[in-house]
Amino acid sequence: MMSDLRTIPFNRPFVVGKELDYIAQAVRQGNLGGEGSFTQRCCRFLETRYGMCRVLLTPSCTTALEIAAQLCELGPGDEVILPAFTFVSTANAVARLGARPVFVDIREDTLNLDERLVERAMTPQTKAIFAVHYAGVACEPAVLASLARAHQVRLVEDAAQGLESRFDDRPLGTWGDLATFSFHETKNVHCGQGGALCVNDPALVERAEYLHDKGTDRARFRRGEVAAYRWVDLGTAGVPSELTAAFLWAQLEHLETISRRRRTMFEYYALRLAPLEQAGHLRLPRSGPRSAGNYHLFYLLLADRAQRDALLASLAAVGIHAVFHYVPLHTSPVGARWGYRAGDLPWTESLSERLLRLPLFFEMTTAEQDRVVDAVAAFFRHPR
Ligand SMILES: *Cc1c(COP(=O)(O)O)cnc(C)c1O
Repeated sequence: MMSDLRTIPFNRPFVVGKELDYIAQAVRQGNLGGEGSFTQRCCRFLETRYGMCRVLLTPSCTTALEIAAQLCELGPGDEVILPAFTFVSTANAVARLGARPVFVDIREDTLNLDERLVERAMTPQTKAIFAVHYAGVACEPAVLASLARAHQVRLVEDAAQGLESRFDDRPLGTWGDLATFSFHETKNVHCGQGGALCVNDPALVERAEYLHDKGTDRARFRRGEVAAYRWVDLGTAGVPSELTAAFLWAQLEHLETISRRRRTMFEYYALRLAPLEQAGHLRLPRSGPRSAGNYHLFYLLLADRAQRDALLASLAAVGIHAVFHYVPLHTSPVGARWGYRAGDLPWTESLSERLLRLPLFFEMTTAEQDRVVDAVAAFFRHPR
């Protein structure tokens, strides 16, 4: 059949509502530089929905992580605990300030930072924990928050994938002193490329505003609190354009539609792939009983790297673009410079090489999901 020959991409960026109308509206309003009415709407929406002290939109989650690292006052001699199974931006934010990334292994079930290993990795130099919520599944934030409190270090949540997820009914992004979201086109809610910095500690809000806007107090100027804005700190270009915010606002208006759709697709994969898990061929994603995820991604764990790579190739041969995920950061060239080597983090290494992510995007059809499931099942009937 013709339609069966069409490639199924891993991701397809989507439009869900008034994205294009709002971009036109932003152009007509004449303020495209940022911090306009669409930015305000996005920030107030996120602050209200999740109960955050202050949300600042950023050009990316990467930028938000960099500002967060600066707010933790990291520098040479400091240490930060984080997983090596994460996107490069989490560790880069720390290392670029000269602080040492202290990589801790992940849990075998959720692929998140193993909170049972965190305390013994702490030293008098530990300044912060950067925790990642992989696949939108919470990384035991209650334990990490109490460890951070007990040791008087900062907790930063890299919630790039965690928008709308909860732990004990409390939103991810509200557990840390600081948290970051990504609105990159591969995330549940997107604006092409974008992010947010969530400030939960009121004592950090003012400085966050400075770092976010080129080291100036322009936010205070805008509110009429100072007569002119000045250079007051070492900041970055952290303010995204109104075009970006306009697109994002249209998506946030449909946040619940997007979440429902992802849940339906995720549960369909889980249902149809369950027999393969029962037959012992693969493992499906897991999360703890206190965790309510956002169905950000659907991964399979295979027996070993060779089988994972064979399945990737076999799916590619029928036009299905599945992908692997993080190459562990401790075995990267920069990780090696910090003295890490292969073998240091056994679960990180083993899970990373066995993981395969299936296509999952807002506009994916049930027929496309069926094709993916059938191709996976065929692989196990006739492994090559
Ligand atoms: C996507 C992602 C990022 C980077 O997000 P950008 O918005 O592309 O900068 C950082 N950390 C994690 C865990 C991510 O998944």
